[in-house]
Amino acid sequence: MIPKKEIDKVLAGYENDSITIGTIGSHSALQILKGAKDEGFDTLAICTKDRAEFYKDWNFIDNVLVIGSYKDILKKNVQEKLIKDNVILIPHGSFVEYVTPKSIEEKLYTPLFGNRSVLHWESDRRKGREWFNLAGIKIPKEFSHPSEIDRIVIVKFPGAKGGRGYFLARNEGEFNKKIKGIKLTMKEKNNFTIQEYIIGTRFYLQFFYSPIIKKVELLGIDIRYESNIDGLVRIPSYLLAGYEIEPGYVVTGNIPVVVRESLLPRIMEIGNNIVGASKRLFPPGIIGPFCMETVCTEDMNFVSFEISARIVAGTNLYLQGSPYSQLLYDEPMSTGRRIAREIKMAVDIGKLAEVIY
Ligand code: AMP
Repeated sequence: MIPKKEIDKVLAGYENDSITIGTIGSHSALQILKGAKDEGFDTLAICTKDRAEFYKDWNFIDNVLVIGSYKDILKKNVQEKLIKDNVILIPHGSFVEYVTPKSIEEKLYTPLFGNRSVLHWESDRRKGREWFNLAGIKIPKEFSHPSEIDRIVIVKFPGAKGGRGYFLARNEGEFNKKIKGIKLTMKEKNNFTIQEYIIGTRFYLQFFYSPIIKKVELLGIDIRYESNIDGLVRIPSYLLAGYEIEPGYVVTGNIPVVVRESLLPRIMEIGNNIVGASKRLFPPGIIGPFCMETVCTEDMNFVSFEISARIVAGTNLYLQGSPYSQLLYDEPMSTGRRIAREIKMAVDIGKLAEVIY
C-alpha cells in the first residue's frame, strides 16, 4: 500500500487553480466528466484507441489520453504526464476492475479521489461483514458448509463478475448438483459464499459522504434490472413447471425508484452508521460516493448484502439529479458533479489532501 504521505507529497506539487479531473472512459465517465466541467474543471478521459473517437465527441471533455490497455495507466510515463497536468483521478466500477484494487493500492501514485484503503474492505467479503457488523447493519445469514443449508440460499463466487455463475439452492443435494455444472475454474468454485436468499424489494442506496461538510447525503436510489431473473418472473409458474431454468443475476440496466417516505430515516441511519464504522476501521474512513445493496423485507427491515465503495453505474440515471438530490440542492446534482463539488470546496478551504488518497 502506498503510504498516504507519498500521495500527499505528489499533491503538494499540484497547481490548485489548474486541476484536471480525469477518469477511465467507461462506466460513469460521462457523468463524472460532465459534472467536473459544470463545476469549472478541465477534464480528461483516458481510454483505449477503440473508444477515443467516442469520448472526443463530447464538448465537456477537454482532452482524451489514449493508452494501449487500461493497466497502462500505471506506467511511469503515463503517471508522470497525469501528475504534470495536475490530474485527480476518479475511480469507478470499471476503473477498479480493469486496474485492480491491488495495483491501485501499490502502484498508482497519481492522486485519487476518496480513500484507497476502502478497496481492501469492499473486495474482501469477510472484511465487508466485519464492517457491516460494526455498523449494526443486518446482513444475510451465511453458511460455512453446504450441509448447513436449511433455507433458500444464493451461492456466490468471487471473480464471477456481475453475478455470473451465481445459483440458488435449497439443500446440500441441490448445491452439489448445481456447483458441478458451473463454468468456473476450480479455484473460483472452491471460493464460494453461501448466503441466505433474502426475499423482499431490492433497493440500491446511493450515498455520498462529505468530510468537508461532515455530512452523509442520499443522492439517489435505483433498482437493478438483472438477467435472466427479471425475465423469468414474467413467466407464469405453470409454464415453468418441469423446466430447470437457473436464474441469473447479471446486471443489464437500472430503474429509478423512490421509497415510501417512512423508510427514509432508516436509510439515513444505514448511511451514517456505515460512515461511522469506516472511520473506526480505516481512518479517515470512506470518502465520497458509496452504494449499499439492500433488500427491504415485508416487515420493513433492510438487509444489506453488499457495498460498492465508489460511484456506481446506477447513478447514471440521475444526470439531472434525483428526487433526493433535488431536496438537497436547488440545481441538477449528479453524483459525478457532487464529486467535483467536493474537490472544489476542499481546494477553496485548503483541504484538498483530506479528500484525496
Ligand atoms: P452481488 O454480486 O452480491 O451484488 O449480487 C448480485 C445480485 O444477486 C443482486 O443484485 C441481487 O439481485 C442478488 N442477490 C445477491 N445477494 C442476495 C441475497 N442475499 N438475497 C437476495 N438476492 C441477492
